[in-house]
Amino acid sequence: MNKPVERIARDIVRVLGLNPGPFTLQGTNTYLFGSGPRRLLVDTGDGAQPEYLKLLYQTLGDSRIDRILITHWHNDHTGGIPAILHSDMVSPDCTIFKHQHKDCPNIDGSQDISDGQVFAVDGLKLTAMLTPGHTPDHVAFLVSGCEQKMLVTGDLILGQGTTVVDDLQPYMRSLDQVLETAPSVLLPGHGPVVQGQDDQGQCNAVRVIREYIDHRHMREKQILQTMAGPPPIAGAPGWSVEQITAAVYPAITDPQIIRAAQKNVHLHLLKLKDEQKIKRILVDPLDPESALWALI
Ligand SMILES: [Zn+2]
Repeated sequence: MNKPVERIARDIVRVLGLNPGPFTLQGTNTYLFGSGPRRLLVDTGDGAQPEYLKLLYQTLGDSRIDRILITHWHNDHTGGIPAILHSDMVSPDCTIFKHQHKDCPNIDGSQDISDGQVFAVDGLKLTAMLTPGHTPDHVAFLVSGCEQKMLVTGDLILGQGTTVVDDLQPYMRSLDQVLETAPSVLLPGHGPVVQGQDDQGQCNAVRVIREYIDHRHMREKQILQTMAGPPPIAGAPGWSVEQITAAVYPAITDPQIIRAAQKNVHLHLLKLKDEQKIKRILVDPLDPESALWALI
């Protein structure tokens, strides 16, 4: 699983970004597509790992990168761009593609990716799916033309654990959307490739997408159930984020994890408010920190 270079299919190789850490798991996965002299690279690592560039160079042999597709703007996916562009690993006309979004930093000289845009390389086709949620500019790529239908998931779905989310409503829609494509293999931005079947003969890739969806639905249900009860402070018009978090995650004690859980609960509350299932009450109309939340 931690092999720095792994051949996934005849024309697909994963090259590990060699930047392990608490947020990147074993590092960022980058993927090289194609078998001919011109290759396509998805994501570029964080740019601080000279060893990664060496690996990429060795993997390319005599071939050159002529297109770089970026799943989203985060530095661990885009940081390697300058070093790669300034190397002789790229052809002189190498082009960078990233979905341009007003709320996300752009990459100088890059071209936009639109929903459904197709990138062909040798026998493979990568079809872009705009999948906001982790970030507004996030794009996944559906790969066809090899034996199995594969999905490059970026940080929408990781090979293990759950991902950090900017905005839950689009995130859930993006998960539903990729589930519909029923891929047999997930090529995530971090963590191991998800493939094969489980003991019950169920496709692991589809199972993992469903688990991501079910996990969020379960949380949402817990939050709504909690809020159906009387607020912990008698007579209060609703629940605070802190109170809901303490009820939904009774076992956590680490302050850092509590803060992360509160952020997650807050994302759920914003989604439920947009869906008009709950309302926000400002106890002090001038202080957003005083917000309490109640069922409608
Ligand atoms: Zn990310």
